[in-house]
Amino acid sequence: MGLLIRGGEIVTADSRSRSDIFIEDETISRIGIGLYAPPGTQVIDAAGKLVFPGFIDPHVHIHLPFMSTFAKDTHANASVSALIGGTTTFIEMCCPSRHDDALDGYHTWKQKAEGNSACDYAFHMAVTRYDATTEAQLREIVRDGTASFKIFLAYKNFFGVTDEEMFHTLKLAASLGVITTAHCENAELIGQLQQLLLAAGKIGPEWHEPSRPESVEAEGTTRFATFVEQTRAAGYVVHLSCAPALRAAVEAKSRGVKLYVESVLPHFLLDKTYAERAGVEGMKHIMSPPLRDRRNQAELWSALNTGLIDTVGTDHCPFDTEQKLLGINAFTQIPNGIPGIEDRVNLMYTYGVKRGRLDLHRFVDALSTRPAQIFSLFPRKGTIAVGSDADLVVYDTAYRGTISAATQHGINDYNGFEGFAIEGRPSAVTVRGKVQVRDGVFVGEPGRGRMLRREPQYGAQEVDYAH
Ligand SMILES: [Zn+2]
Repeated sequence: MGLLIRGGEIVTADSRSRSDIFIEDETISRIGIGLYAPPGTQVIDAAGKLVFPGFIDPHVHIHLPFMSTFAKDTHANASVSALIGGTTTFIEMCCPSRHDDALDGYHTWKQKAEGNSACDYAFHMAVTRYDATTEAQLREIVRDGTASFKIFLAYKNFFGVTDEEMFHTLKLAASLGVITTAHCENAELIGQLQQLLLAAGKIGPEWHEPSRPESVEAEGTTRFATFVEQTRAAGYVVHLSCAPALRAAVEAKSRGVKLYVESVLPHFLLDKTYAERAGVEGMKHIMSPPLRDRRNQAELWSALNTGLIDTVGTDHCPFDTEQKLLGINAFTQIPNGIPGIEDRVNLMYTYGVKRGRLDLHRFVDALSTRPAQIFSLFPRKGTIAVGSDADLVVYDTAYRGTISAATQHGINDYNGFEGFAIEGRPSAVTVRGKVQVRDGVFVGEPGRGRMLRREPQYGAQEVDYAH
């Protein structure tokens, strides 16, 4: 039985046209006007609606042991939340700590996801230690279809790597043609500033941002870009939050470093005054890099619109109120993270496209096409074309609603965007041709999602120092 999406306005990263889409099995088989629907075809009327390629969240945490607790989500729950919000693929950070075995960690993450996700997914493999066993393990993980790494310059002694370990990771990644994503903040400065602030009695969440100021992120960005350059690697800065870090990344790009930039939902819409709210209200908005001074937002929107910021993710990482209160006596003990997997598409559409800050095609590009291209999923994902997976979002631009923890589908007991109005939401969402969501309700097959195996695409680079 086929599926026909009839009469919608198809919007991709570079085109817009009114057409029907016919899907057989899991892929798009025809695109055209007035397509014939054989008997038994399921028809979705998309007249008056936009049809986007399924959105891809390139940066989420679902299973995550962190700061003496675990992020709240399960793959079942997070994937349903993602789909209701129009995200049909997520890339999860597989994050064993420096004290764990990397390969064991990889298998743990895979097992947690397997059979439990309602949408397709992939992993970035965190490299949190580099020793004699690491190269063989990473080669095995890449062979298994996980063609991107993650390193942390922050979180010393837990996820964080030394400069020496960063060098070896990037050198191996370059030789494998694998891209490395990086959390860019200077771990040493953060640790020292945290101790000074706590010693001065500055223990509340409002001191989180001053403990990791903008220049600390800019330094990490510059250092990562320099290591990427000298190893001939491909790099991707995750969750870039502020103008000084943006300048560092743009400077590296302009001298030819293969560097991509991601910013995440909270930094476009929230500022540090949210984290300065009293007590647990402030703690709900603790993430790293921290929410910044509002003056950064116009620069982030502008860089996103021109493509200097390549992608928009969420860094979805839900901890509930009780967990946030672990940091009641010291801001350094507040679990870092905020959920967002359900809200990224609707909020970026409303506050970007509808407010005139973000071109509609760039919106599709940054939230779907570019993540697919950078992470070896294109053109299977990230566009609407014959032969591509039928991951589609029929988008109702007439919908009006408000974000609230009371109506969200995530497990968490708060939403960092509480009270934000949205002007649009998915009316139908498909995963490989199966309708999974209708108008905010999950109607599909819970375990439908599959792990997407990805091939290295950056070309093996070896630096020959002998010549
Ligand atoms: Zn993250």
